[in-house]
Amino acid sequence: MLAREQRRRVQGGVAGLTGEAFGAASMLEAMPQFELTSRESAVVEAVPHQLFIGGSWRDASGGSTIVVQDPSTGGALCEVADASLEDAAAALDAACAAGEAWRTTAPRERGDVLRRAYELILERTEDIALLMTLEMGKPIKESKAEITYANNFLRWYSEEAVRINGRFSVNENGAGRVLTMKQAIGPCLFITPWNFPLAMGTRKIGPAIAAGCTMVVKPAKQTPLCMLALAQILEEAGLPGGVLNVITAEKSGDTMGPLIADPRVRKLSFTGSTSVGRSLIKQASEQVLKVSMELGGNAPFVVFEDADLDQAVEGAMIAKMRNMGEACTSANRFHVHESIAEEFADKLAQRMDAMAVGRGTEDGIDVGPMINADERDKVHELVEDAVAKGARVLTGGESIEGPGHFYRPTVLGSVPKDARVLSEEIFGPVAPVTTFATEDEAVAAANDTEYGLVAYLFTRDLERAFRVVERLETGMIGLNQGMVSNAGAPFGGVKQSGFGREGGPEGMEEYLETKYVAMNLGG
Ligand code: NAD
Repeated sequence: MLAREQRRRVQGGVAGLTGEAFGAASMLEAMPQFELTSRESAVVEAVPHQLFIGGSWRDASGGSTIVVQDPSTGGALCEVADASLEDAAAALDAACAAGEAWRTTAPRERGDVLRRAYELILERTEDIALLMTLEMGKPIKESKAEITYANNFLRWYSEEAVRINGRFSVNENGAGRVLTMKQAIGPCLFITPWNFPLAMGTRKIGPAIAAGCTMVVKPAKQTPLCMLALAQILEEAGLPGGVLNVITAEKSGDTMGPLIADPRVRKLSFTGSTSVGRSLIKQASEQVLKVSMELGGNAPFVVFEDADLDQAVEGAMIAKMRNMGEACTSANRFHVHESIAEEFADKLAQRMDAMAVGRGTEDGIDVGPMINADERDKVHELVEDAVAKGARVLTGGESIEGPGHFYRPTVLGSVPKDARVLSEEIFGPVAPVTTFATEDEAVAAANDTEYGLVAYLFTRDLERAFRVVERLETGMIGLNQGMVSNAGAPFGGVKQSGFGREGGPEGMEEYLETKYVAMNLGG
């Protein structure tokens, strides 16, 4: 019954389908066409679809474009510029040219730009949320949550700009003095993914602007519009031309490769998959370029027998279904004590089953589409593999027909240890539940991955909580809570989830170099 209802709602969401435009002249016209509402068209059109270089908006020098699609319909939303190598070089030139003036701009002024941008985003949250939902697919309420999270980085770092401190101390021999100062690291390159189109940008841009750095940002080609909207807002907030340059590109590797090889660049910060991160680390090594890598995850969600079960289920819903499971922090596997595993899985399945799937712009929708057909098919392949090896489907387990790339929220019980779904990043709305008998077994299973971004732990036993927290090999831990993201806290991983931290004072350090002056006071 519920599956049929969900199908109806998904199809209802694309009632504006008007059919393909065969023989159309431009790439955009060749895509399936869908009618946007006038408000949807207005928010898409309000954002420049060009490159933002040196404080001006311009088309790609070769005139090429990329089509941006609505993943809930597969229909085209608009075209944005596809930067040429010359455009990319011009963006870096602009960042380098603006470097000295921005580095020496008063910290309060740098902070004030961020604060004004924060206020503008607050005012425009409704429009940006719709834009985000259109290009990325997540329901409007999730877009609003991301905007709040993203915007908090601008607010936090507007406050940090005036707290860049060095130190002064007497040398141990009593004669000389030790002076350290923090200075902006210099021109930065940022590459961001599609899953959090705004927040993955502000986590880097906020501290970089506060520290006095200039930058070239390349968002994912699937979701460039939020980054362009952010550039527009920062321009309006008074950010001088050249401090932030945004280029959109079809072939990210080709476009960014020459910039990574440019000796003027001082920092590369990347958020995305571990495989791409690995290749960027190699490229960056040529210039001994300082890098931050926010990579993939495979978060364990561990529930001990003494946990508050309802609290654990609540936490599981957030850890699993935030962003439809398309989050690096998404709970990838549920390790539940064997005495409560069945009850936990049943309760989770009930909650997942009740979620409404559909186009994120519609009222009451909990789960939007996957970003594209490949991602949805990969999710289904992992489910099929688990089922073939003996897992039970407690709810979901199938794609939803129709345009758009929808997948039903899924819970798998009795998942065997060799199922791929436990070891690979799912990046979708699938919760595999497996069991453990002892604390040692739980810790070993949680750590049995090359990733180390975040782990979730549910227990009411304080001693156990600390014991396990200290043994988990991750950069972050959610203790009795399903979410760790917080602008004031250091976000980041260990092992193959990368290195570097975003958020909090640690996030600022990524954009500062320490200079030490050995002072001879004479005598
Ligand atoms: P992706 O690695 O495919 O792409 C990320 C970005 O890198 C995009 O802008 C893309 O265009 C660009 N890119 C791709 N190949 C490149 C190359 N050869 N050279 C330069 N740039 C290149 O990742 P995705 O599919 O956009 O995002 C999903 C992945 O991101 C998941 O693995 C997820 O776990 C990870 N992620 C991590 C964090 C974190 O903070 N740790 C946050 C969000 C997403």
